[in-house]
Amino acid sequence: MRQYAAPPLATIFSLVMTGVATGGSELAASWTRVRDRLRSEYGEATFKNWLNRLDVADLSGDSLVLSAPSKFMRDWVTPRYGDRIRALWRLEDPSVRTVDIVVSEGDRTGPQEKPVAGRTAGQRADRSVDDETVTALLDPRLTFGNFVVGKPNEFAHAAARRVSESDDAPFNPLFIYGGVGLGKTHLMQGIAWRLRQRQPQRQVMYLSAEKFMYRFVQALRFKNIMGFKELFRSVDVLMIDDVQFMDGKDATQEEFFHTFNELVDKGHQIVVSGDRSPSDLDGMEERMRSRLGCGLVAEVHSTSYELRLGILQAKAESIVGSNVSDKVLEFLAHKITSNVRELEGALNRVVAHATLVGRPIALDSAQEVLHDLLRAHERRVTIEEIQKRVSDYYNIRVAEMSSARRAQMVARPRQVAMYLAKQLTSRSLPEIGRKFGNRDHTTVMHAIKKVDQVSQSDPSFAEDVELLRRMLES
Ligand code: ADP
Ligand code: MG
Repeated sequence: MRQYAAPPLATIFSLVMTGVATGGSELAASWTRVRDRLRSEYGEATFKNWLNRLDVADLSGDSLVLSAPSKFMRDWVTPRYGDRIRALWRLEDPSVRTVDIVVSEGDRTGPQEKPVAGRTAGQRADRSVDDETVTALLDPRLTFGNFVVGKPNEFAHAAARRVSESDDAPFNPLFIYGGVGLGKTHLMQGIAWRLRQRQPQRQVMYLSAEKFMYRFVQALRFKNIMGFKELFRSVDVLMIDDVQFMDGKDATQEEFFHTFNELVDKGHQIVVSGDRSPSDLDGMEERMRSRLGCGLVAEVHSTSYELRLGILQAKAESIVGSNVSDKVLEFLAHKITSNVRELEGALNRVVAHATLVGRPIALDSAQEVLHDLLRAHERRVTIEEIQKRVSDYYNIRVAEMSSARRAQMVARPRQVAMYLAKQLTSRSLPEIGRKFGNRDHTTVMHAIKKVDQVSQSDPSFAEDVELLRRMLES
């Protein structure tokens, strides 16, 4: 057994100590994280109207009690969000088995009642502790059955399926990567569920890199490194989600590296996900990067319109009583292009609204319900688009946007494009400069000033700029 390097540990210790110092602050921190997840999953409106009003009332033993300000609120929230809150809470604290929502003191309309649904009591007390830990982290919705396959994810999906249908490790590791909200976690948990179903005797462990570190640090703290090693090195399938979290965390990486090697040597399957390809994980040690890339690397690409529509149709069908027309789904697929999580959030909002007003939702009301979200999306113009539009408009080659030429016929359009890039994107001045042939940020500043000046003295120039801005925004 090797010894563990001492220096980085002090930092990690203090990190954990702040997390678990007192029960109360830990509870508050967990609740904050759960609330953040709820907000991002259901969207700002649902969150503000319903979920924001919940509070933690009590946590004792394995039951968490939340309070809602009214009976109406409780009865609305419990069947719709109760299970999800419980699942999210269990990610924070697997020992919690029930989440009850009660009406807070002072607004109770009747005698203290037992909450309606919400109580989804834990079963399977016969399982081992480790098994329980792992199960707690799996979301019942993230199965292959609920995964919609399209061009952008078909390769990653096929690779995941293959791992889940094999008795050994067909490629080791399987590394899945892609941007946020594109289905990496879904695919990993899909593998875990399928393996559990096919081969219940195989020990499958799924956890985030963050949890891995947390458990590692706990093991150090409670002097139980042996137990930690035994646990992770005994599993048949190890899945580590969001490995980029280990960036710069040397001791954790080191431990993972050894676990990884031992499992691979034994022919046990490893699945890892990340937000970048292994070679781009620059916060990881070179040897780790090369190990991660030596199996099968599968990218989950950004969604296409067809995939988004397919996902929306599947989700809409799965929400009981939801009544969303194809027109509205097409509209959402067309407008919400960032990722699947936001797409789901938008659909949930539309459905919640329709349920509330009691009739199917029409296109114009969908637009209204989502107007803040849509606006945020519409503003997402890229610098490349701006450069293209401006070049077309002034009839110059796009390459002039990055060229060194200073002739006014190309310099002025270039300045206009920089000006619009500042107005319409969230890019910083240095970032904008880089996209324009590696110019300095002071050049961008100068361009912005220049465009303002000329606009004031030359109304037809000002009109051009305004027109371009509108074209880019529509
Ligand atoms: P990531 O881990 O890549 O950030 P997730 O796997 O958490 O993304 O996916 C975000 C949400 O989108 C989840 O609710 C997931 O179920 C859903 N999702 C992503 N891709 C698909 C898909 N192809 N079919 C159905 N749901 C999907
Ligand atoms: Mg994920």
